[in-house]
Amino acid sequence: PMNVETSMPSGNVRVVVRVRAFLPREYEKDSANLIEMNPVTQETHLNPPPPSALRGSRNKILDRKTFTFDNSFWSIDRDDPHYVDQEDVYNALGQEFLDHNFQGYHTCIFAYGQTGAGKSYTMMGTPEYPGLIPRTCRDLFERIKANQNPNVTFTVRVSYFEVYNEHVCDLLVPRRETPVYLKVRESPTEGPYIKDLTEVPVRSIGEVLNWMKLGDRSRTTASTNMNDTSSRSHAVFTLVLKQIEVCDGDETIERLARIRLVDLAGSERANSTGATGARLREGSNINKSLTTLGRVIAALADQAGRRPSGPNSKRDVIPYRDSILTWLLKDSLGGNSKTAMIACISPTDYDETLSTLRYADQAK
Ligand code: ADP
Repeated sequence: PMNVETSMPSGNVRVVVRVRAFLPREYEKDSANLIEMNPVTQETHLNPPPPSALRGSRNKILDRKTFTFDNSFWSIDRDDPHYVDQEDVYNALGQEFLDHNFQGYHTCIFAYGQTGAGKSYTMMGTPEYPGLIPRTCRDLFERIKANQNPNVTFTVRVSYFEVYNEHVCDLLVPRRETPVYLKVRESPTEGPYIKDLTEVPVRSIGEVLNWMKLGDRSRTTASTNMNDTSSRSHAVFTLVLKQIEVCDGDETIERLARIRLVDLAGSERANSTGATGARLREGSNINKSLTTLGRVIAALADQAGRRPSGPNSKRDVIPYRDSILTWLLKDSLGGNSKTAMIACISPTDYDETLSTLRYADQAK
């Protein structure tokens, strides 16, 4: 029997899921694929592992779970006719979000999931298979180049920061021995912002890619020093697109759009138990950002799809302030912005995948 946990999504929040290819170690262990997807209904099914794969004293009976998302992206096997590659993901999501940016709306795309589930592959990708970030940058400059309207000029700026343990670090400055944390301030007109964050003007795809690489190097340098920080920090890549249009009589219209592309910390730390001390604080801080993000997105989705209700509805208050990440992304999440969550899942891990699918499901 089907065990459907969901209803259809709506509003300004898009939720998609992507299952990655098997890794060599999963082939070696002969791990079973637990995921099925229906390309017509966009359902994702999670099957229980075969009895032989069940560890230890598990006595709970696991069910087959079914979820429906805006898209279910199948990226298990390149030879499969339904295989969704990097370009398909961009065409299904990135392109449309860039349309919104050119109309002057902020957007935010998150990759969520356990470490190793394909978040950086989806967002950044590899030189051979570039992900959403380089594709968005390329398309952005192609569209600017193709602009035929002599009255419109464009400027693009880029910043790249990470949130680690509720602290903010600039990824576009060289790393120091001791990390430099930036302060979060609030402006009455602009809302929350990061004081002294590097924001560089860029005029070509090449320039952005260079900054992107520099930022990624900061992230990995830190991760070797600090024991794999990259899986524990949230990396926020931002493009700011400004359009200035000169109208009749020298009047100008300015449109500003922030394009946020976020590689979240591994979600497994949020669930893991048994940690102590610094690791526990770190775990609970990640937990705080991830659970708050989930609650913020759920509240927004709820608000968007909701008929007017009583004045005391708790959902009217969006809990942005409960974590640094959601506080900083406030302008890119609510109001006139579009948000997408890409839930990245492994095909072989029942518990982590179920927890990711549930998280994504509550965001609809
Ligand atoms: P995360 O950022 O979630 O920790 P990664 O993006 O580093 O995970 O992915 C883990 C591994 O799986 C990498 O070796 C990556 O190249 C591979 N991988 C991830 N997603 C895919 C995919 N859709 N197709 C092929 N390989 C993938």
